[in-house]
Amino acid sequence: MNHRYRLATVALHADASSPEEAGSPLAPPIVQSSTFAFPGLPELDRVMSGEVGGYYYSREGNPNAQALAAVVAALEGHPCGVACASGMAALAATVLALAREGDHVVSAREVYGGTRTLLGEELGRLGIGTSFVPGTDADRFEAAVNSHTRLIVCETLSNPTLRLAPIPDLVEVARRRKLHLVLDNTFATPVLLQSASLGVTLTLHSATKYLAGHDDVTAGVVTGTAEQLSRIGRLVARLGASLDPFAAWLALRGLRTLPLRVERQCANAMGLARWLAGHPRVARVHYPGLPEHPQHHLAARLFGGRFGGMLSLELAGGEAAVDRMIRRLRLVRLAPSLGGVSTTVSHPLRSSHRYLPAEELEALGISGALLRVSVGIESLADLVEDFEQALAE
Ligand SMILES: *Cc1c(COP(=O)(O)O)cnc(C)c1O
Repeated sequence: MNHRYRLATVALHADASSPEEAGSPLAPPIVQSSTFAFPGLPELDRVMSGEVGGYYYSREGNPNAQALAAVVAALEGHPCGVACASGMAALAATVLALAREGDHVVSAREVYGGTRTLLGEELGRLGIGTSFVPGTDADRFEAAVNSHTRLIVCETLSNPTLRLAPIPDLVEVARRRKLHLVLDNTFATPVLLQSASLGVTLTLHSATKYLAGHDDVTAGVVTGTAEQLSRIGRLVARLGASLDPFAAWLALRGLRTLPLRVERQCANAMGLARWLAGHPRVARVHYPGLPEHPQHHLAARLFGGRFGGMLSLELAGGEAAVDRMIRRLRLVRLAPSLGGVSTTVSHPLRSSHRYLPAEELEALGISGALLRVSVGIESLADLVEDFEQALAE
């Protein structure tokens, strides 16, 4: 697309193929084929050498995966993207493409549990060391940089206490120290924060969450510059971490409504956060849209007045009260994921963070009393009523 369209339009039209043949399908067909046929050797050679565009083997590239990646890249304002089998595949391919044995990574300590174990355990085993630092302070990231550091890894919004990465400062640190900054924008989505507008040149998503948005597909996407993405894309193919065509098709179908869904999720989350904050049995609510959030002003500045669909709450009665409330909820289900159209809750201590030692849990502010809510697109009044009856004496 040459014209600069706005986000909701980009989500629908960024993959449009033109010029159109008469009678071509408006919805993209699912190209459920593992390989592609050629009339003869010169034609095969031209595609395999990259001289002309085209497909030959789906692990190396497929129209559905490519369309998904192109739309996510357009939403982030990046020239290129690669779709992967999951968010973890996207992260693994990104780090392995950009770092080698002996290199060093500086990561926010609050990152997703899978990210933490991939960096801290698996890549550590391969000789790529990681220092984990408190994720809200760019000086702590810079202090951990050494002569072997290649990458900074952070998440726009942390899980589960919803703290913001100081992205403009981290962009500066990465530029000054000549590092790759990898931003996991899963929680914020491009609706809240478009990477390119802040100078972030490498972004990844668990498309399993908001991008696909319907709890029915596992997928990941990396977006960035052509140079970075050619290395990452090659590694995705070599590792076999490519996305299946049907999963890509489902994710792109979900992505069409991302801006609509996230606007509604932000509005619902703000309403629910305010209501919960006023409830006598709720000890604390973590939501960047509330004025008491320690980074409320940064969130307002970076996210253009929206604050996302994720919130966490702490119940005065501790873990027993949390379990009682979960059992009494009628619409809202306990499920360890997020970003779908229906509201779900998860309990970090008993799921995503269950393997962390006690002192780290304390540093991250995670106790049995903490419950994370992924707010969906239901009617807000029904959500409030559900929490109200579940919290009743
Ligand atoms: C879920 C998640 C991941 C991992 O994505 P998968 O699709 O489950 O592999 C990475 N980062 C964040 C922030 C996530 O929420």
